[in-house]
Amino acid sequence: MNLHTALSDLDWLPPQRRRQLARCELQTVEDLLCHFPRRYEDRTRFDRFPRGDHEQPVCVCGTVKKVTLRRLRGRQKMFDAVLEEDNAHALSTPLVCRWFNAHWVEKVVACGVRLVVYGKPKRSGSQVIISHPEFEVVEDDAEKSVHLERITPIHRATAGLSTRALRQLLWETLHKLEARDVPEILPAGLDETPRWQALRQIHFPDSWETLARARRHLVLLEFFGLQLCVAARRAEQQAQPGQAHCGSGAWMDRLHRALPFALTGAQQRAIGEIRADLESPRPMNRLLHGDVGSGKTLVALSAMLLAVEAGYEAALMAPTQILAEQHYLQFKRLLEPLGIGVALRTGARREDPLPLFNQGIQPAPPEEPAATGKERNAARNAPKRALQSSSQSSPQNGEAQIFVGTHALLFEGTGLNRLGLAVIDEQHKFGVLQRAKLREHGSAPDVLVMTATPIPRTLTMTLFGDLDVSTLDELPANRGKIITAARDSAKLPEAVQFLKTQLQTGRQAYIVYPLIDESEKLEAKAAAAEFARWQEFLAPMRCELLHGRVPPEEKDAIMGRFRRGETQALVATTVIEVGIDVPNANLMLIENAERFGLAQLHQLRGRIGRGAHKSYCVLLSSKLEEPEAREKLEVLCAHHNGFEIAEADLRLRGPGDLLGTAQSGLPPIRIGDLLADTDLMILAREQAQAVLARDPRLEAEEHRVLRGFLEEPRKITLAQVS
Ligand code: ADP
Ligand code: MG
Repeated sequence: MNLHTALSDLDWLPPQRRRQLARCELQTVEDLLCHFPRRYEDRTRFDRFPRGDHEQPVCVCGTVKKVTLRRLRGRQKMFDAVLEEDNAHALSTPLVCRWFNAHWVEKVVACGVRLVVYGKPKRSGSQVIISHPEFEVVEDDAEKSVHLERITPIHRATAGLSTRALRQLLWETLHKLEARDVPEILPAGLDETPRWQALRQIHFPDSWETLARARRHLVLLEFFGLQLCVAARRAEQQAQPGQAHCGSGAWMDRLHRALPFALTGAQQRAIGEIRADLESPRPMNRLLHGDVGSGKTLVALSAMLLAVEAGYEAALMAPTQILAEQHYLQFKRLLEPLGIGVALRTGARREDPLPLFNQGIQPAPPEEPAATGKERNAARNAPKRALQSSSQSSPQNGEAQIFVGTHALLFEGTGLNRLGLAVIDEQHKFGVLQRAKLREHGSAPDVLVMTATPIPRTLTMTLFGDLDVSTLDELPANRGKIITAARDSAKLPEAVQFLKTQLQTGRQAYIVYPLIDESEKLEAKAAAAEFARWQEFLAPMRCELLHGRVPPEEKDAIMGRFRRGETQALVATTVIEVGIDVPNANLMLIENAERFGLAQLHQLRGRIGRGAHKSYCVLLSSKLEEPEAREKLEVLCAHHNGFEIAEADLRLRGPGDLLGTAQSGLPPIRIGDLLADTDLMILAREQAQAVLARDPRLEAEEHRVLRGFLEEPRKITLAQVS
């Protein structure tokens, strides 16, 4: 047996178990060993029976003395099992374990059965109750050294295998596996625990101490594999041929001079970093991140002007049509006075006669045959247009060289064959794989990816580890303070009252509600109903309605009236999430706030706090009773720094959710904690880079295992490739 052996081939298992394992998500011995416990119970010393509420869960052992099953209203059932403590002394209080509608529990929990129970106790009258505890039946013939008299691992049950069955299987497997079946992988000197030992101890620790050491080894191993992928990918990108795409900066300077404000230091630094990349023939792969309102768009636009001035096309790709349109309108406003053309290209509007297409570039023919990379290269390197444009000293021709579109732009025959710079907004919805795809289309354009919110450092080192990073860690000086509060939806009338008082002093407000349905018809209907309600609430103040289906021209008009203060309130969907900037608007009320993600709420809130006045953000929710919703909204009330909010988001939801790990093509993170284990990540990164620096192709014999891993990081983990 080695790490690659299929579980269904383990000849010491009964045939029935082997058949079961063949269908299970864990296929090899290594899969099984990497199914790490989600927690542990110290069953060498159980807690005493609780006598009141506990903040932390307790782990107790006792015997069932009585069970009762009660039928409640509407076919609901409540099942109670009263537990008596082992070696009970006079003072101990019986413990009630309670389940609702848990049919299978009724079958296994009966009088006389001994249970290990884990959960949070609550006192209710004279009783102490644990609702829906986790539990395990103590079998008389149980191997005590596996299940009981030890620090016991609790694994997540998986297809057909209970926690207990998994534990038994792991125990046997670990005892049959020999040290020589588990090759060392971490570079020597990084960690003294042998890997074999670490795998045993993570599942069946001798002590909390050996557990911590085992965990360190395995986290390092996981991070090392991850960083190896990242470093290899980066090396590959850097080796790609590319071109410089950078003009003299005259166009960009004109834009900057026309702005009513000065760039922040962080913006200048970021533009400098991007400019150096554009000047270099090495293809740029840069991540630009920063807090909401830190001015990322302007940095991107500056970069685009540098590329366009050099005679290339530059494209900004947003994840949705609405965002694309917003960027388009904003760019148009900024660039038209300078005589630089901008074109919008999104799926839905492809056919529309866009004014700029009429003046300049024709839309691509609908069915352009897919060109091979080579042909495209040739097309791009051909002198035709590129030379023509670069020989122009002034942008006055109005021809579109800046394109705004959705991400779909990348994958269609877009006719962009001089693409020098691709800016991708909201990278976290845009995976590493797509980025690679972009490069397949032709010789490598420079790529700048932006996120809507800042990213914690551990993640910039992992999911974005193959990118260079520019951080906007400074907000423009004029940003005011925002006071945020979460209120129950029942308090709406008070919130309305507060809003009206503020509006009477001349301020303006955003009222945001979540999109309930994506479909156009329903959306429009919900918006209309919402709007009528608010008009009534705020009368005689004037409000207008803004949502994704309002045509761009009308959107512009509505925004214009709001900007000029002709309307006091804007009832809106999340279309206001980006690109809206009205300093006099200092109020925001968000309905059903719990339906939004943390990052999105922070992004929305970023629309206020832009003027001299104190700003207020009210988060209304009818779900404040639910811990998940409450916790989320509390984070927002307590923090204003986007970096802190991003970390909280990571803690609450995990990295997968935040950044779409599934799309990243990187190995999964099973045991490491991206927030708590930053030190180990840094260490792993240094080691991975050192290994690749010494042996870029991993040709050395000692790196054979690593080579196999790099070829298929998702499939094979760090087992021996034999
Ligand atoms: P985000 O980083 O959230 O994408 P934006 O790029 O939308 O931020 O910028 C937010 C607003 O701040 C925009 O209206 C933009 O014009 C303005 N802005 C950008 N840079 C500055 C600056 N240096 N000083 C003042 N306002 C700025
Ligand atoms: Mg933005």
